[in-house]
Amino acid sequence: MKSYALILFTFLSLVSAQSAVAQRSRFSNAVNPGLVAKAQQVTGDSFTIATSTPRGARVVARVPPRPETLSAIDRGLEELFAVARRHGYSARLNFSDYTIFIGRADRTRNRDGQYSPDIAIGAAQYAGSVYDQGGFVYAAGMVLSFSPGAFVIAEHDRDWQRISNVVRYEGEHIVLFHNDRALYQRTADHSRGGSHPILQ
Ligand SMILES: [Zn+2]
Repeated sequence: MKSYALILFTFLSLVSAQSAVAQRSRFSNAVNPGLVAKAQQVTGDSFTIATSTPRGARVVARVPPRPETLSAIDRGLEELFAVARRHGYSARLNFSDYTIFIGRADRTRNRDGQYSPDIAIGAAQYAGSVYDQGGFVYAAGMVLSFSPGAFVIAEHDRDWQRISNVVRYEGEHIVLFHNDRALYQRTADHSRGGSHPILQ
């Protein structure tokens, strides 16, 4: 009886070790390691979950994202692609062109007490501006890479419309980078003015 239990235990440990290895390798096959390193450096989070939205955008997270989050991401991208097409843009208008990281919120309420899950980002260009919180700023999202298109947003447990907006807004920088470099340059740094939505 004892040896049977030991064999069973050994078998189960092997299975769980193998599935952890399989999960890690699925994760590293799904996501560019340099991009993950950049996201971890910006957020201080460690990302272990790779999944995708129903429309095919890639999502990387610390915890499995809710279905509401995934469809809110799709709605934000859909709106972004529609407005981009109205402007005659055609580059990077596929869901699969985008990787969205979802990090831990460093605050969930803004200074007015409204629900506002944001990420604290050390951002030199905002030093001394109205955004400056003492060496860092709170941001709803931040672009991590233009090729592949990637940005980070914060975990939400409600207000899915806000996720759609943040996705649309961060995505705007990437769409402009690839379709209208002059407008991208003028609007990339919000400390010098310019706010979202940039494309109407
Ligand atoms: Zn922006």
